[in-house]
Amino acid sequence: MPMYDYRCSQCGHKFEELIFSWEEKEIVCPECKTLQVERLMGAPATISGSAPACEREGCPTPAGSGFS
Ligand SMILES: [Zn+2]
Repeated sequence: MPMYDYRCSQCGHKFEELIFSWEEKEIVCPECKTLQVERLMGAPATISGSAPACEREGCPTPAGSGFS
């Protein structure tokens, strides 16, 4: 079962929601019950904090273009 991370745009609460299909499901914040939540898809960097910005194979790495 795919499990997605969501973050509430109202109170900033982070939570996980199980999505059983691609049906349009209304996700509400369990804290403030708002619908203003955003899905944090493909952003595992928030867990370890050390994930590369681009971990896809073949993705061009802008080396030396801003990173110091
Ligand atoms: Zn909330």
